[in-house]
Amino acid sequence: MKKIIALLLAIAMLATLTLPCVFAEAPADETCKYWGDMDEDGKVTSADARLVLRHSVGLKDNPEGYTEDVLYKCDIDQDGKISSSDARSVLRLSVGLDEFPAHELLKGVGKDATCTEDGLTDGLFCIICGTTFEPQEVVPATGHKEVTDEAVAATCTEDGLTEGKHCEVCGEVFTAQETVPALGHDPMAVPAESKEVCEPAQVCARCGETLSEAVMHEYNAKAITVENGVVCTRCGEVKTPSFNDLVNPLKQAPHTFTYLSQTDTAIDEPKFTGVMLLLKPMFDEEFKNDDNNETEYTVLSEKTEVNSRTFELINADEVSRLTDNDATVKTETVSGVDFLKNLPDTVSVGSRSSDLTAIKAKDFGDVLKVTVTLKPETYSKLADQGGVDAIGRISSQYGSLISSAMMQFSGLNEDFLKTDADCVSNMTVTYYFEPETFSPIAATYKITMDISQTMSIDISGMNKDDLPAVLKLASSTTGAISFKITTDLNTFYFFDEYFD
Ligand SMILES: [Zn+2]
Ligand SMILES: [Zn+2]
Ligand SMILES: [Zn+2]
Ligand SMILES: [Zn+2]
Repeated sequence: MKKIIALLLAIAMLATLTLPCVFAEAPADETCKYWGDMDEDGKVTSADARLVLRHSVGLKDNPEGYTEDVLYKCDIDQDGKISSSDARSVLRLSVGLDEFPAHELLKGVGKDATCTEDGLTDGLFCIICGTTFEPQEVVPATGHKEVTDEAVAATCTEDGLTEGKHCEVCGEVFTAQETVPALGHDPMAVPAESKEVCEPAQVCARCGETLSEAVMHEYNAKAITVENGVVCTRCGEVKTPSFNDLVNPLKQAPHTFTYLSQTDTAIDEPKFTGVMLLLKPMFDEEFKNDDNNETEYTVLSEKTEVNSRTFELINADEVSRLTDNDATVKTETVSGVDFLKNLPDTVSVGSRSSDLTAIKAKDFGDVLKVTVTLKPETYSKLADQGGVDAIGRISSQYGSLISSAMMQFSGLNEDFLKTDADCVSNMTVTYYFEPETFSPIAATYKITMDISQTMSIDISGMNKDDLPAVLKLASSTTGAISFKITTDLNTFYFFDEYFD
C-alpha cells in the first residue's frame, strides 16, 4: 500500500515525468508537520483527530472519499489501516504531546540526457508535505555526435566499404557504409630471367601475391638431329632447330659470303705384281712427278651473294632432303670458330693473293657449332650408282665431283689393260651459328674420297713382237698395279656480315 501511494504521488507531482522512484532515508533531525492533516488545511489540529476517528468507525464525512495519500499520512502507526489509535496519535500531535514523524522522503531518480531526449537530475521530495529537498532539473538533450566512418578500400580478396556517418554516442546511422566487393587479383606475368622459362610466373599487379610459379620448358630431346629440333612439348617453342631447318633458310637470307676451297691429296705407295713389276720404273717417275701430299687452294671468291645457284651447298631443296638415316648431328657450344686458326695467313689462287689475318683474328665469343657427319658411301663403279646419294643431296657439286673422279679412274678399257676403281666417300658439314639468332657465321664442307685404283694387264693373247721391249722379257703374262688416292676437299665459308 505504501509503495503504491508513493508511486501515485510521484506521478502527480512530476506530471510530465515518469520516473522510477525509490524511498530515501529521511533527514534524521527533521520532522514533517503534515502527518495527520486529514482536512488538508496545512496544520494538524483536534479537528483532524476527530476526522480520523470518524473515518476509523466508518463515518463518511467526505462524500468523494479520501484520497489514498490523505489516508496514508493519517495512518500514523503505518499499520495499513486507519484506526482509533491513529486518531489518538493525531490528537497528541496536534497538542504537542508527540513529536511529528520524519518526512517520508521519495527520491526522484533522474536519467541521463540522450542525444535526442532531455534528462533529469536526481530529486528528493517528501510525499507527506510535498517539500522538495532536491529539485529535479532538466538536463538538455546532448545532440548527436557525428563521426565519419572512414571508407575502406576493397582489396583483391577482401570487400571494402564506402564512407559512412553515425552518432558516436547512440549509434544512430546517418549514412550507411556500403560494401564494395573484393576486386579479385590482377594477374601479371613476371618477366622471365631465364630463357628456360616456358610459362612465366604470375603475380598480382595490385597486391603482389604470387598466383602461379614459373614453369620451365619441357624439351622433347636433348640434341637436334637432321630432321628434328629441340622443341618444348608444352609451348612448341624451338630451342634449337633441326639441322635442315637451320640450314635451309639460308637460301633466302640476304647474306654475302666469302669462300675458299682447299684440296689435300695423298697417294700411297703403289703395289706392283706380275708383269706390272717390269713397268714399275716408268710409274715411279709418274708418281714422283705428281704433286702428291700437297695442299692446294683452288677457289677463292669474295662477297658472293647467297642464292641457291651460287651457293648450292646450302641449297634448301637439297639440304632439306637429308634424313636421320643419312647423317648424325652433334651440337655444342664452343668458343669461337675453331677452324680459323688452322688457315694460313695468306692464300694464293692463280695470280690472286688474299690476306686472311683479319678473318683469323676475329673473336666471336661463344658460338653454336653444329656438325653433321654423313655416313660413308661406297661406289664400286660409276655405273652402279643409283639415285642420288646423301652427298649429292647436300651438295650436287660434290656429288658430281665424285662422279667425274670415278669416270677419270675408270678410263682405260683396252683388251689387254683394264682399270677399275672403288671409291669410299664421306662428308662432314660444320656450321657455326650465332647462338641466339642461329644466324650463320661460318661453315665448312669437308668431303673425303678414298679412291682405290687397280690397273690390271693381261698380255697372254698378244703377239710378243707387238709388245714393248720391256715386256718381252716377262715370264708372267698378267700383273697389276694398285694404289689409293685420298683426297680431302674443304670449302670454308665466311659470312660477310660477321667478317666485314
Ligand atoms: Zn513532510
Ligand atoms: Zn546520438
Ligand atoms: Zn591481388
Ligand atoms: Zn615451353
